[in-house]
Amino acid sequence: MMKLTELKGIGPKTEALFFKLGVRTAEDLLHYYPVGYDAYDPPCAPGADMEGQKTAVKGVLTGYPSVRRKGNLTILTAVLSGPYGKIRLNWYNSLFLKSRLVPGREQVFRGVLRIRGNMKVIDHPEIHEPEKYAALSGTLVPVYGLTAGLSGKTVAKAVREAFAALLPEGGDYLPVPVKERFCLTDAETAIRGIHFPQTPEMMLNARKRLVFDEFFLFILALRSLKEAGLEEENHFPMQPVRETEDLIAGLPFRLTEAQLRVWHEVEADLSGRNLMSRMIQGDVGSGKTIVAFLAMLQCVRCGWQSAMMAPTEVLARQHFEKFTKLKETYGLSCIRPVLLCGSMKASEKKEADRQIADGSANIIIGTHALFQDHVGYDRLALVITDEQHRFGVRQRRALLGKGFLPHTLVMSATPIPRTLAVAFYGDMAVSVIDEMPAGRTPVKNAVVDESARKSTLAFIGRQLAEGRQVYVVCPMIEPAEELVLANVKEEAAFLKKVFPDYKIGKLHGRMKTDEKNAVMEAFADGSVQLLVSTTVIEVGVDVPNATVMVVENAERFGLAQLHQLRGRVGRGKHQSYCVFMAGQKSEAVMARLGILKQSSDGFVIAEKDLALRGPGDLLGIRQSGDPVFTLADISRDGSILQQASETADAVLAEDPWLNLEKNAPLKAKLQTYLQANERNITL
Ligand code: ADP
Ligand code: MG
Repeated sequence: MMKLTELKGIGPKTEALFFKLGVRTAEDLLHYYPVGYDAYDPPCAPGADMEGQKTAVKGVLTGYPSVRRKGNLTILTAVLSGPYGKIRLNWYNSLFLKSRLVPGREQVFRGVLRIRGNMKVIDHPEIHEPEKYAALSGTLVPVYGLTAGLSGKTVAKAVREAFAALLPEGGDYLPVPVKERFCLTDAETAIRGIHFPQTPEMMLNARKRLVFDEFFLFILALRSLKEAGLEEENHFPMQPVRETEDLIAGLPFRLTEAQLRVWHEVEADLSGRNLMSRMIQGDVGSGKTIVAFLAMLQCVRCGWQSAMMAPTEVLARQHFEKFTKLKETYGLSCIRPVLLCGSMKASEKKEADRQIADGSANIIIGTHALFQDHVGYDRLALVITDEQHRFGVRQRRALLGKGFLPHTLVMSATPIPRTLAVAFYGDMAVSVIDEMPAGRTPVKNAVVDESARKSTLAFIGRQLAEGRQVYVVCPMIEPAEELVLANVKEEAAFLKKVFPDYKIGKLHGRMKTDEKNAVMEAFADGSVQLLVSTTVIEVGVDVPNATVMVVENAERFGLAQLHQLRGRVGRGKHQSYCVFMAGQKSEAVMARLGILKQSSDGFVIAEKDLALRGPGDLLGIRQSGDPVFTLADISRDGSILQQASETADAVLAEDPWLNLEKNAPLKAKLQTYLQANERNITL
């Protein structure tokens, strides 16, 4: 590993800024991909519909610029004239530009177009001579996610320095036949191509290779870590029990056909010849939890312990409370639930540990605290993980280790099309709950653009005033130069000004776990009313009082992901709303987002999304803080996932332990990958 400060031009100060971005070494820098590209499109005659977009206009200044002072701002203003009419140009605290603003000569100005009253305005445009601009046309300039004090130029320069110092980065580990078969470029070309593509095609090729790598290594890592499969003998046989039937009959609602079918599959697994290894996939709100509860009930009724692990404390507490209520409501005296979370007091934890160890608790619900070393189980026979896609395999293995291979059930709402589930879950059996409980009030959806900003804010205000809560989702954590995208930091600051009477929370993947938990908890208990976040809120938390979700720059997300996000609202008795705010007003964008209004079936949406988003859609790059897939997008890169999965199968069929000489580079790469990612690898 090479320190950042070993690179030319990086001192301790810049290094500290890079640390903030999660870039700790020169190697990290190679993989700190741009969040998008700035394309120098040919100058155009912008209409009002291009508001909010980066625009280049050619024209002639009608006169010398005027200078105004406003507080400590010096504003330089000129008027540009061309076939499109007049556009006002403003520069702030940049008097030195004055000499470049010569009337009567044709120049190109480039910046974000705004409409103020009936005037078109560009603030702080770049100034180009027409010939020079023509030369730039068609090139792609990388745009990096930035933190205050670090400019895009500094990042780009540092990346170039890292290239010089590190590439080729230990050669290419991918066997040549694989590259040939799927037309993949080599690793070095890919890294260069993603940072500094000369053409869009180069960027797409680079992206394809890197996405392939992300999937391929992920799948290999999964398989190499995987517990024993289906063929393991069932040493915890559990016969079906009356109590589950009684509970189903006594519930205030009727289970859907799909829930019943899946429950019977699980019930049969538990009493079958082999250990259960099953995943339940079901859209948000499809009612997976009750199926899990039934399985746990059968387990404890047969005399064993069962544990359920949730990705956040908030979710764990919710499950625990629901279980306790179930026990009381239905007089299920055989159930003895206990909660175990990291933030509990030492004395509480100790007491929980005791109950788990001596068997006086038989339903154990918690977070990853469930498998810390001090926790010893008495008779653990069933482990359920909720929202599995957020869990580390290592964590899960630690828990499995305590129960001598118990039955495992995992639950996920990630709407992966069925054909792809196989690639991910291998020989794990998959059950799908493909039906929604009747009688839900459907979420009302709106697909809007910037022109609805004011009315959206007013709407948020009214909902807040009624005591409801609101999610605002942004594609970025922090601002990026040159890329006009909503980001958590600025959005939260903005909303704070608009709604000074409410408490606003921030949430993103670069925060520490306990910080995230604290914010989520504050939102769940209502002390925070407005939550500004990246996609990390996807995880299945239930805040029934949250009735509004606004997704900024919705065009940046896959439909499947937007659908997943919208599942956070519509969970309570109040009507819920989802506003998809498009940053661009193009027809294609509006049509694609419109699908979310037509369907509320996650599987249908995921399939349509795959069909609709062509590879030309290269602006899907964004910043969620998700550590596992930086570029890859399950809902969009299905065909690459398929290829990576086939390749992994073929490689492992021939050489299960990667001991062959020719696989040595791959083995080394996998080892590094495992070290870096083990905590994050999710199933
Ligand atoms: P998810 O599949 O997203 O985990 P949950 O299990 O949390 O969904 O269920 C969401 C809500 O729907 C819960 O309040 C649950 O009690 C309720 N629910 C589950 N099954 C049914 C059903 N068949 N009819 C009506 N409501 C149901
Ligand atoms: Mg759930």
